[in-house]
Formats: sequence, structure tokens, C-alpha cells
Amino acid sequence: MIFDSHVHIDAENTEPFIKVCKEYQIGALINAESVCEYEAAQQVMQSQPTCFVSFGIHPWKSKKFCSEEKPLQTSERVAALENYYRHADAIGEIGMDSVWCDIDLMIQREVFTAQLDMAEALLKPIVLHTKGQEKEIAQILRNYSVKKLLHWYSCKEHLEEYLEQDCYFTVGPDFKRNQAVSSLIERVPLDRLLVETDGAMAVQWVLERKVYEQELPGILSGTIQAIATIKNRKASEVEQLLEENFYRFLQGNGNSR
Ligand SMILES: [Zn+2]
Repeated sequence: MIFDSHVHIDAENTEPFIKVCKEYQIGALINAESVCEYEAAQQVMQSQPTCFVSFGIHPWKSKKFCSEEKPLQTSERVAALENYYRHADAIGEIGMDSVWCDIDLMIQREVFTAQLDMAEALLKPIVLHTKGQEKEIAQILRNYSVKKLLHWYSCKEHLEEYLEQDCYFTVGPDFKRNQAVSSLIERVPLDRLLVETDGAMAVQWVLERKVYEQELPGILSGTIQAIATIKNRKASEVEQLLEENFYRFLQGNGNSR
């Protein structure tokens, strides 16, 4: 089975995604960055047992998260969501970004590390967003022993610092156009690779046209085919290995499923 290891779905309308999962036999780690998205992911998981959920405050939302009314410390705000972190299969996507958002890095760092502490306390694997902050995040992660997945890693540098920490990596849907992403396939060992679409909206951004949910399985198979070619393996063999990676990443730690 092919697993979309990092995908955002439309929380208002989960039907198209459920339909695609059923029709194409796709599993997924659905990303939820709010309680409402978490509940939408639960809806999908009820009808698709090969779908899982990661929950976390995205770095782009860190300022809004910190400025919600009540005068609370960041760690208290994160603690108030403990039930969601506890019941999620992974914590993420969390991290820092100095390229696609201009939120003060002090604020981002505070929200990020509070969630890392939560992941460590609950023994949950984490999904990371590192854009522009690859060097610092690699350093911060050395203090945490949970399993780590670098989502759509697209930096030519610092890869070794993550490989040393046994991190997993998803290959993003722009591997044909982005040399940093395609070189990831060459440099990361097969037992640490996964594939993702990041959702229809992200693929839409890559392809610069409207993208529908039913196109996601084709994108995932295309990425698996590219991995197979570069690693000189059969696509079916790569699919099987990536499924094993997916479950190895999620299992152990605090998850029993
Ligand atoms: Zn994402």
C-alpha cells in the first residue's frame, strides 16, 4: 500500500479524500493544525483504518496561537491541548520557518520547543517543518530522543546532521523541478525515505494549476517510481519498503496501534 506520509485535507469536506483512499487503496498521515482539523482527520480514520493523524501548531500559526486572548505562557497553551497531542499518532507539523513567513523567530522557537517537550513527554514521533532554519533545528533536535520525520526537506545543506540522528525524510511532490529534493532521494538511505503530497493545495502550488484529490495517488506513484529508478529497485519493492518505514516511524514510542 502507498502511504501519503504528510497530507493536509479539506476539513470542511472530507468525502473526496475518503473516496480517493478507498478507491486507490491509499493510507495517510493526515496533518491537523487545529481542533477542527483534528476532528476532520478522525472522521477519515473511522472509515479508513490505514489513515493516521499528526497534530501540532504549524510555525506559520505560532503568532496567532500565542496571542489568543487569555494571558497564558506558551507552555500553558500547549499543555491545554495535551489531550489532542496524546491521542494523535504523531506531533506535527511543528518547526520554524524564516523563508515563507516573517513571524519573529523567538515566538516560533518558543512554540516549537514547547511542542517538542510535549512530544518527548508523551513519546510521540514528530513531523518537522524546517524551511530556512535547517541548521538551528538540527541542533535543537539533538536534545530530543523521539523519532523524527523531516517533511518535504528541500535544503541542500545540513542533511548529514539529520541523517546522524536517524531521521526519516519525505520526498515532496516537486522532485522533478527541485534539485534539492531529487538529490535527497540519492543521499537518504532507502530505510529512511517516505513520500508525501502535502495535500492538493500544495501540489497546486507546484504545478501552478487546479489539482483535485483524485490526482494525489498518481503523484505518489510517480515519486515512488523515481525512487525506484534512482535506487535501482522495482517500484513494487520500494512501495513495500516505504510501507515498512511508515509503520516503523509511527510505532514504538508512545503509539500502540
Ligand atoms: Zn504541510
